[in-house]
Amino acid sequence: MTQQLQITKARTLKEKPEVAGIPFGSYFTDHMFSMDYSAELGWHDASIIPYAPIEVSPSAQALHYGQTVFEGLKAYNVDGDVTLFRPDENFKRLNRSLERLSMPKIDEEFALLALTELLKLEHDWVPDGEGQALYVRPFVFANEPYLGVRPAKNYKMLIVLSPVAGYYGAQLNPTSIFVEDSYVRAVRGGVGEVKFGGNYAASLHAQQKAADLGYEQVLWLDGVHQEYVEEVGSMNIFFVRNGELVTPELNGSILPGITRKSLIELASGMGYTVNEERIHIKDIEEGIKDGSVTEVFGAGTAAVIAPVGIMNIHGTDYRINGNEIGEVTQKLYDNLTGIQTCELEDKYGWVHQVTSTVK
Ligand SMILES: *Cc1c(COP(=O)(O)O)cnc(C)c1O
Repeated sequence: MTQQLQITKARTLKEKPEVAGIPFGSYFTDHMFSMDYSAELGWHDASIIPYAPIEVSPSAQALHYGQTVFEGLKAYNVDGDVTLFRPDENFKRLNRSLERLSMPKIDEEFALLALTELLKLEHDWVPDGEGQALYVRPFVFANEPYLGVRPAKNYKMLIVLSPVAGYYGAQLNPTSIFVEDSYVRAVRGGVGEVKFGGNYAASLHAQQKAADLGYEQVLWLDGVHQEYVEEVGSMNIFFVRNGELVTPELNGSILPGITRKSLIELASGMGYTVNEERIHIKDIEEGIKDGSVTEVFGAGTAAVIAPVGIMNIHGTDYRINGNEIGEVTQKLYDNLTGIQTCELEDKYGWVHQVTSTVK
């Protein structure tokens, strides 16, 4: 599938905001990528157009039955050049999500090419402050006007861009998590392992409950036994136990994070033993009590690494590492963000150059 990419530039450009202090995902750039799918034509009308509201039929299937999937990655400003972190992994995962939701797959190479053209046009929007980035949100939804329950025949893919501040400002402040033991996020065989919109809608109630109790995030347990650790809202979870890293194994209900995958490789390369296994919440509780579990952190694109300082397990609050960021967490954060911002050598070939100015 080779496609032409039409570019229509905006007549007037927006004023660029002060990125520090804008809430995550609340401000968008001048242009977006758009592409349509129909059963007859396949994916067509690939274009870069001004960012603006789109027309959607009241009967669009996504609004009723939720066929909608998304991705999230970041573009970085490295001395004026734009880079992406492992974008091929995001488009591969988008295709896995599309397949799971009976939606048409995209050409991964073309999607990356289209994103590259969009970022070239919007390169002035990629912020260069500490921890700042241009968040990239590709998504696909069913827009056939039809109320029958079956896979739609028409879809739209869009990519929008949003400048984001560092998740925490200058330093890593530990977060607090509530281990949810009544609601569940996902079950094996379900849709938890893909980035399907409904997963997040379904998580809001428990997230609200945790917030009301004074915790920032929910840690989900498995959907069957409600005993095994799965992940946080939009992050995978890692523990430091006896100096080794341990994270839940991918079991069919956990979202396979690219940050997770990268950290596993990176930590192994740094000499850490990394264990992917089924983790009982009781063992974590015991480990915190007896001092063998010394650090806990979440891992995902938005925050990169989020140290956990407080963990509420079955009603008891535990402080992890005195509610301070731990040594291993800090080291991994420094190494991963160092690679992402090209301050450290990219041994693994993870950084994708979007623009390069010869200096
Ligand atoms: C996106 C996401 C993650 C993290 O994935 P990354 O590729 O590292 O950003 C983890 N869990 C859930 C539920 C997610 O939606």
